[in-house]
Amino acid sequence: MQKIIEKIEEKVLQEKDLSFDESLALAGITEYEDLFRLFMAANSVKEKFRSDSVDLCALTNAKSGSCPENCAFCAQSAHSKTKAKTYPLINAEEILKHAEKAVVNKTHRFCIVTSGCSVNEEELKEICKAIRLIKNKFPHLKMDASLGKLNKENAKLLKDAGLDRYNHNIETAESNFHKVCSTHSFKDRLKTLEILKEVGIEICCGGIIGLGETDRERIELAFYLKKLDVDCIPLNFLNPVPGTRFENNKIPSPLELLKFISIFRLILPAKQIRICGGRQSNLGQLQSLIFFAGADAIIIGDYLTTKGSSPHQDLQMISNLGLKV
Ligand code: SF4
Repeated sequence: MQKIIEKIEEKVLQEKDLSFDESLALAGITEYEDLFRLFMAANSVKEKFRSDSVDLCALTNAKSGSCPENCAFCAQSAHSKTKAKTYPLINAEEILKHAEKAVVNKTHRFCIVTSGCSVNEEELKEICKAIRLIKNKFPHLKMDASLGKLNKENAKLLKDAGLDRYNHNIETAESNFHKVCSTHSFKDRLKTLEILKEVGIEICCGGIIGLGETDRERIELAFYLKKLDVDCIPLNFLNPVPGTRFENNKIPSPLELLKFISIFRLILPAKQIRICGGRQSNLGQLQSLIFFAGADAIIIGDYLTTKGSSPHQDLQMISNLGLKV
């Protein structure tokens, strides 16, 4: 296997695409030595195509809970019975305060997230106001948003307000999507991505590992993201919240998760790969290995409904590894 990994590494470093079958072969790795050889390959590919700096993004959950959609992993779905907070959209000034805190923690990006399938006209207006306030105060801070489905008109309003990037995950492989959500389809999610491309907003689009998918479906997800040619790939690892339909899902071991970070890096050598929700709960003490396995970005601070590490701890981890922010 070591020889095969070596050949794959050379191939990707020469800017040739990894094939689906090669990726599947890597997914079958079980031996410890092979796994660490795979991490080395992913790390050298990251060094060639990315850099040694880590991109930091902080989130604000600007509107929480009561979502009519039934995504089986989500604590904010009205179909789940969880203790997730429920509140309407916070105002622009409050969102600005959250951005101010994020800037203190050296973040490069700030993402306004709302629950629900989309935002209404009034909410969109308030979010555009928040983006303008934040851009005015911190012109170098990149602004992201994750507000569900978008039409072209609303996408243009966000772009005019100064939005740099929009998050809209496809969550899992197309073949597994029906098990995750039935209130909207995989194709529905693609429509918003098409609109973002048309309007010229950068796309952040990825998924979650732990949604009952097979190894093959994880690889299918990576190849679908490659086809979509998105700018950033957020990779989440399910943190099964009691009261959600996936509360009893079995999550792969930390080394398995790291293996898939490496495979995603080899399939998508030049893309930003951001490790998001479930990093601390699933990887525990192995979490610093994400950077050695091919990741180059993280969410800093808390997630939408679960706690993250303290920003100080994450900044210390990055500095201890000799990486920059
Ligand atoms: S659409 Fe978003 S907020 Fe609503 S249930 Fe799905 S993931 Fe949760």
